[in-house]
Amino acid sequence: MSDFDVIIVGGGIAGASLGAELAGKRRTLILEAESQCGYHSTGRSAAFYLESYGGAEVAKLNRASREFLANPPQDFSDRCFLRTRGDLHLTQDELPELPPGVDSRPVERDELEKLIPGIRPAWRRALFEPGCADIDVAGLHAAYLRRFRKLGGIVQVDSRLESAARTGGRWTVRLEGGWAVAAPILVNAAGAWADAVAARCGVAPLGIAPKRRTMVQLRVGRTGLKGLPLVDDSKGTFYFKGEGDSSIWLSPHDEIDTDPCDAAPEEIDVATAIERFQGVVDWPVERVERSWAGLRSFAPDRLPVYGFDADLPGFFWCAGQGGFGIQTSPAAAKTAAALILSELPDPTVAGIDPAVFSPRRFAS
Ligand SMILES: Cc1cc2nc3c(=O)[nH]c(=O)nc-3n(C[C@H](O)[C@H](O)[C@H](O)COP(=O)(O)OP(=O)(O)OC[C@H]3O[C@@H](n4cnc5c(N)ncnc54)[C@H](O)[C@@H]3O)c2cc1C
Repeated sequence: MSDFDVIIVGGGIAGASLGAELAGKRRTLILEAESQCGYHSTGRSAAFYLESYGGAEVAKLNRASREFLANPPQDFSDRCFLRTRGDLHLTQDELPELPPGVDSRPVERDELEKLIPGIRPAWRRALFEPGCADIDVAGLHAAYLRRFRKLGGIVQVDSRLESAARTGGRWTVRLEGGWAVAAPILVNAAGAWADAVAARCGVAPLGIAPKRRTMVQLRVGRTGLKGLPLVDDSKGTFYFKGEGDSSIWLSPHDEIDTDPCDAAPEEIDVATAIERFQGVVDWPVERVERSWAGLRSFAPDRLPVYGFDADLPGFFWCAGQGGFGIQTSPAAAKTAAALILSELPDPTVAGIDPAVFSPRRFAS
């Protein structure tokens, strides 16, 4: 049986980023059930960075991640991961309220018509958030895995945790096929499967609920769309952003409860997305170029969960990243790593209170 200091279950952005923070200091193994890391939520995101997204506490993680994403250390990547496009939070009545400290300015109807030619009259105003950017998700995820391996970490794909038990201060993890590995610390970074993995380890689930979200790449009868800002309804019924010269990425902002699975888009959700889009602009819809769906997984209070389980020692939760798991990954990984290593946190996350994200908040 192979021995490690830390075993991370899940090779998405959560497992990869945390692994990269740990690998130089602890012998770390990432177990990934699929044949490639990033196959589930990480590979299906809308790929944007939006500081205001997720509420005040998540915004702190977003903010603390921005510098790393915009100017990564040279030995991590020689390319930045952000490309700024801005976000228009549209409204038919009052402007939305953003978390404290987020840079924004109101945009009135005249300017809105210039920014989005063809916008329908009902949309009277918007709040513009200039810092919104695209994230190179594949590049970021690959850079984390590259760093993890360079520091001695081992990634094992096609390796699904079947069960785990703790005896004598160590977790013994059994994999499909009978192989076993052991470590004193087991990290649950299994995304939509976080509760299922906990149950297989004899740990009480926290109520991490996967919710399906649909994305549509739509061809429209307009050109010059590539640099279009992200456009969202401040009441949360759609968002879209420019993709190609005549195509957009569009979501109906759906959030459909589902079991953990290989999510696929439903026709009704694609149709809803298009119907809502047609209520925003008068652009002719030409065709659906592709559509996909992924799972966003939330704890009951919609905050992520980073920390050791309240009851079972050595079981660390890194779950519930909802719709912000990519953009928060630098700060989240540093915060979680400090807890696992019992070290002072990196200065970039010194202002983040890890107690806010602790699983102990659910302990009765
Ligand atoms: C449509 C959509 C749009 C989104 N847009 C954005 C966005 O614009 N910006 C943003 O920041 N975030 C966005 N998100 C959210 C983001 O994608 C997620 O928060 C993030 O990818 C979660 O990462 P993860 O590593 O926790 O999960 P995953 O990427 O799902 O990784 C978990 C991994 O665990 C593995 N696993 C599960 N069970 C086991 C087991 N028993 N043994 C071994 N491995 C196991 C799975 O195979 C999987 O690969 C979006 C999500 C969706 C679906």
